Amino acid sequence: MQRGDGGTAVADPAIRQKYIEERNKRLRPEGLGQFMRVADSAQFKYLGNDPWVDHAALNAKAPVLSDGDDIKFLVLGAGYGGLLFAAHLIEAGFSAADIRVVDVAGGFGGTWYWNRYPGLMCDTESYIYMPLLEETGHMPRFKYAYGPELRAHADRIAEKWGLTDRALFRTQSRSASWDDAAKRWVVQLVEGRGPTEPKKEITITTQYMLVASGILDAPHIPRLQGFDQFRGQHFHTSRWNYDITGGTDTDWMLDKLKDKRVGILGTGATAVQAVPHLAKWAKHLYVFQRTPSSVDVRGQRPTDPDEWANNIAATKGWARARMQNFNSWIVNEPNGEDLVNDGFCRARAYFGLVGGRGIVAPEKIPEHIDMLHAYDLERAEKIRARVSAVVKDPETAEKLKHWYPVWCKRPTFHEDYLPVFNQPNVTLVDTDGRGVDGLTADAVVVNGTPFPIDVLVLSTGYALSVAGGSGSPAQRANIKVFGRGGLDMDDKWVREGAGTLHGVASHGFPNFLFLGPTQAGATANVTYVLDFLASHVAMILAEAERRAGGDTTRVTVEPTKVGEDEWVGELLKRVSWFSALRGCTPGYLTREGETPADIGEQMKAARSGVWGEGIISFAELIRAWEDKGELRGFQVEANV
Ligand code: FAD
Ligand code: NDP
Repeated sequence: MQRGDGGTAVADPAIRQKYIEERNKRLRPEGLGQFMRVADSAQFKYLGNDPWVDHAALNAKAPVLSDGDDIKFLVLGAGYGGLLFAAHLIEAGFSAADIRVVDVAGGFGGTWYWNRYPGLMCDTESYIYMPLLEETGHMPRFKYAYGPELRAHADRIAEKWGLTDRALFRTQSRSASWDDAAKRWVVQLVEGRGPTEPKKEITITTQYMLVASGILDAPHIPRLQGFDQFRGQHFHTSRWNYDITGGTDTDWMLDKLKDKRVGILGTGATAVQAVPHLAKWAKHLYVFQRTPSSVDVRGQRPTDPDEWANNIAATKGWARARMQNFNSWIVNEPNGEDLVNDGFCRARAYFGLVGGRGIVAPEKIPEHIDMLHAYDLERAEKIRARVSAVVKDPETAEKLKHWYPVWCKRPTFHEDYLPVFNQPNVTLVDTDGRGVDGLTADAVVVNGTPFPIDVLVLSTGYALSVAGGSGSPAQRANIKVFGRGGLDMDDKWVREGAGTLHGVASHGFPNFLFLGPTQAGATANVTYVLDFLASHVAMILAEAERRAGGDTTRVTVEPTKVGEDEWVGELLKRVSWFSALRGCTPGYLTREGETPADIGEQMKAARSGVWGEGIISFAELIRAWEDKGELRGFQVEANV
């Protein structure tokens, strides 16, 4: 299959018209302002607490960082990204003893620490999604691993790279300021030691600050009328409350819901996984839907140890080769047999979201969008037909059909989601794109009709973008970052738009490294990108220190202004690839449909995108840059 072969389907004008109508129903003037961040809300502040932390165990440990410590590497975030940063630094020759990992969570795992909802699993094949499988020798139990295994894998990586006792948990980083005389970041940390102990303020200095704070770690909640009157129990899926539902994070027996009317708000990728479990246990389940997900076949199966040993993991380098093979199918540049062979690989128009080869000239944009629709149509029709085949009531089935192309919302995959709508204890409450009206003391109100419930599960996602926020790595980590001359990273991002070199560093912020996604390559397998960028950063730092020779304690590395401007220029040349996103039904991937009013702001917004030519082009370009060994675009100073 080659690009340009748009399959047998052609873009259907009637369907495209329907997409526009469905989108228009959903555009809301308040855009991102329709949500509040948990951190900003008095009512939901409790969701900022860590339900999983073991304070007694952590308090019994020797301190990992103390006030006044000077360290070499501070890794912010103990998810897969932070672990990959650390592992690649060690592989590049740095010592684990020089690394400290800090996370506000009570353990390793990031996404897989916080999220413990019933049904949690990865949607990307675990053989390519779970990082460092080859190095750890771990064989995932299933093609798509479940949450507990994904979390345990984070602990396994920490153990193998000697990080277990080098992590300070329950610790929020608040700010980081560059001290140019000392060539150090001065970092303010606050350690929460449990409800009965005072918070501990810790100030440390670090030569390098590596930020892996994730993109989906700040839950958000819609601003709903009457929320403060609601007297029932409620929680967000990323802080699942097993005291309310029964069961535990490893045993999804939700027996306390047997006599409860449960409502779940939201039908995104999380809800698709959690709903089958709620439907199994609740006396009655109301699924409040604003926009249906596209729900494709999952194809879950246990890993066959023989197939693993003799086929999947038989050769050295298999894991990254399999990731690259997957990427090649995602960007429609297939390289050999489709090894993963799942719904993502068949979502041929997904490269509308993550980029594809070729620069789209402005006059070719309509043709480009037609091409994407043509790619999408066959798959979209199959998925809609699947709904009709599975859901018995035709009216309900119609409401569960998605009317937008695959690049607008994350596709989902599940065998058990659609069949729940055949159960007598499950009601789909479709809001026809409007969302729920609000809440009363004991009900969710839709179109004037109250639906009485005892428990409300908020499956309403995350603040990937914040209304009025800069979108900088600092803002995403919820810290203030002041670089050379006190330059505020958020101010720079607001004034100029995003500015990075390769998506990992920004001019004015020496020795401050991060992991995209802005201005880096993207694919449907996030950990591939984290792994790739972390190894890129490790290479840059190792090369910078090699050049410095003996004393490396004052080495600095920072993108030059010219280097950064060139990279942003290259990014902008490719941004027209994403022109189809402007026609999307709103969602977190498209800033809820917000479009900046003037051309200047639109140009700035364009800078916050990903590499338009796709992940393979990005990886080739970066590897060629690395092979030259020049660190072109970076300025390295030592012993200044
Ligand atoms: P995270 O895992 O989010 O970790 C960031 C950590 O930084 C968090 O633990 C957070 O507490 C910490 N942190 C942030 N700010 C601070 C601060 N100021 N101070 C201290 N600590 C801080 N991607 C896929 O490719 N495939 C999938 O199948 C997939 N499934 C997913 C399922 C769910 C439910 C969710 C929410 C996301 C999923 N993702 C998936 C995306 C997933 O987030 C990434 O794959 C990946 O795990 C991100 O890792 P990370 O380390 O970059 O960020
Ligand atoms: P999403 O942002 O995808 O979904 C939020 C849901 O809440 C949407 O259905 C949204 O509707 C709905 N919603 C928001 N406001 C209202 C309202 N006022 N009334 C009614 N409904 C409302 O969050 P998720 O947690 O589901 O997923 C976030 C991301 O996390 C995914 O896209 C994916 O990247 C990742 N994820 C991955 C998984 C995996 O791969 N295994 C599993 C789970 C999550 P609308 O669509 O109309 O905005």
